[in-house]
Formats: sequence, C-alpha cells, structure tokens
Amino acid sequence: MPLFPQRNLLHSQTSLGLACNDPDEPVRRAAEVVVQRMLRRGSGYGIAGPTWREGKRQRPAARPRDVKAAARKLKKRLERNGGVDPELLNIAVELGNCDRRHRCLHPACPQCGRAVQRLFVRALVRFLEANEHLGPWVMLSLILPPLDPGREIDFAAERARYTAVLRRAGLRLGAFGLDLSFNEDDRRMLSEADRFAPHPCVHLYGIAPAGQVEAALPVLRRLVPATNLVCRPVRRKRFDGNPAALAYSHKPRFTRRLTILRDDPRRASPVRTTRDRVLTVEQEIRAVRALARAGLTGRIVLLGVHFEPVPIARPRRAPRT
Ligand SMILES: [Zn+2]
Repeated sequence: MPLFPQRNLLHSQTSLGLACNDPDEPVRRAAEVVVQRMLRRGSGYGIAGPTWREGKRQRPAARPRDVKAAARKLKKRLERNGGVDPELLNIAVELGNCDRRHRCLHPACPQCGRAVQRLFVRALVRFLEANEHLGPWVMLSLILPPLDPGREIDFAAERARYTAVLRRAGLRLGAFGLDLSFNEDDRRMLSEADRFAPHPCVHLYGIAPAGQVEAALPVLRRLVPATNLVCRPVRRKRFDGNPAALAYSHKPRFTRRLTILRDDPRRASPVRTTRDRVLTVEQEIRAVRALARAGLTGRIVLLGVHFEPVPIARPRRAPRT
C-alpha cells in the first residue's frame, strides 16, 4: 500500500525536494535561499495538497484566510505593545504588507510561516515516497534541558545542541523541526519550592528511520535523563503515513504550556498533565524576536539530507476524444 494514498497531485513545475547527502562528500546548500526562491514564486501559500487535520478535535489545517487574520492580529499586537522598539514596529509593517503580489518572507509572518510549513511537508512526503526502502519510519520527540530562562531564545544555538546529541546517539538520517513552548508550573497544591520556574523550552520533533532510532535510544536516554522539568524527554511513535505528524514537526504557532494536577478516578493521587493556552503578549514578542533572528529555515534540523529544487512532472491530461 502506498504511504500517502490520498495525496493530492502537485501542479507546479518545480518544487522543493529533499535529497540524500553523499556520505563521502556532504553537500551544504543554503536552504534559506532555496526556500526564499520558492516563496517568492508563491509556492506554499495556496490550498494545494497534501492536507491534514490537527489536534484532538481534528480541525482542518490553517487556510489562507485563517493566517491572514492571524497576521492582522499579530501586527496590531506588535504595534500596540512594541513601544518605541523600531524592530518590532518594522516587523508589524512587513506583516501588514504581505500579500499575494509581494510576500514579506519574514520568519514571524503567519502567512509565510504557513507556506514554509507546507513546503517542508510536501518535500518530506515526496522524499518518503521516493525512499520507501529507507523505512519504516518513526516520529522522534526529544527535549533537552532548557537553557537559562532569562536568556534570549536562540534557535541557532538550540539547533547545534540538538544536532550534536542526535549525531552522538548515532542517527545519520532524519528531518526534524524545533518547536517552542513557554512552560509554567500551575500545580497550586504544591509548595513554591516544589514547582519549577517559568521558562521557554525548545524541543525537537521529526521523522527518522525506525532502525536507527531503536539503535540510538539507549544512548539518547543516557544523554538526556528524565528530570522534574521534563518527565519523558525521549519518545518515539510509529509514523502512520499521516502528513499531520510531519506538519507538527514544523508547526508555525507556539503554545503556553501549563503543568497541572488533574484528578483521576483510577488513581489515589492527582496525575501530572499539561494544558495549552495562547501566548501572553510578552511571550509572543519574545517568540517573534527569536524567529526574526533564526530566519525562515532556522527551525529545521536535517541529518543526512539537504534541500534542493526538484523538477516535478505535470500530471498528463487524458486526450480529448
Ligand atoms: Zn509574509
């Protein structure tokens, strides 16, 4: 059975692809330049597939009008709270000017962020279809201990940190994304001393060959042990072919994650769980600054593959009779 049975056809003549690096001569391509070129051509902004549904409620992925509304909202938030910071006001202007005739290509732009996510998913789907022999695949989630919470959020430093750990564990192939959450401890039953301080946390999520992940797990678990902050720092789950899992590895929206205690009738004491909320203004501004510094592809972590433009054959039309 094909991995992606319901995939829509792509109609562009060239598209973004993922190609295996030559192990003897690693290729270093400027992913940022390739992605910018695609965005300037308008790729990723429309509704061309693949499509997917998100979250517990299985809502359809954001449509162009949803991200347009999100961009307007973010622009207003930046204008209202940017104070006298010219960087934030400039970003607000750029987001406001992003439309189909002129794309702003700003890494914090909800419209451009959605397009980058869709290009990433398309490239991955195509890569997995063309390289079935490298599978089966699993989704790997990895959370390293957060860096100093007072520091600026630095995706470049996090990317280097995560890449080093993955390589040390022996992984040679994979495509991952860096996600950001603002974690807060809302376990009010506990004393102040037993609760963790609020902190931003950059985590990694993405796809890798099951065989390599299984072999890497003992090293990963030794390198990244469980703590009070992160109970399950290393997790993996079978990839079932749903593009939603690939999309999640590069989701454009970040969350404020509250750790809470919830009563469970099957257990004697309340269980630890999390509840997601929208970002506060201060958190959103920190995220926008971090994205601006990271660049459009600064949250993508690739092992053994690189981005390149690939030609796509147009689907043939049946001759008219
Ligand atoms: Zn934009």
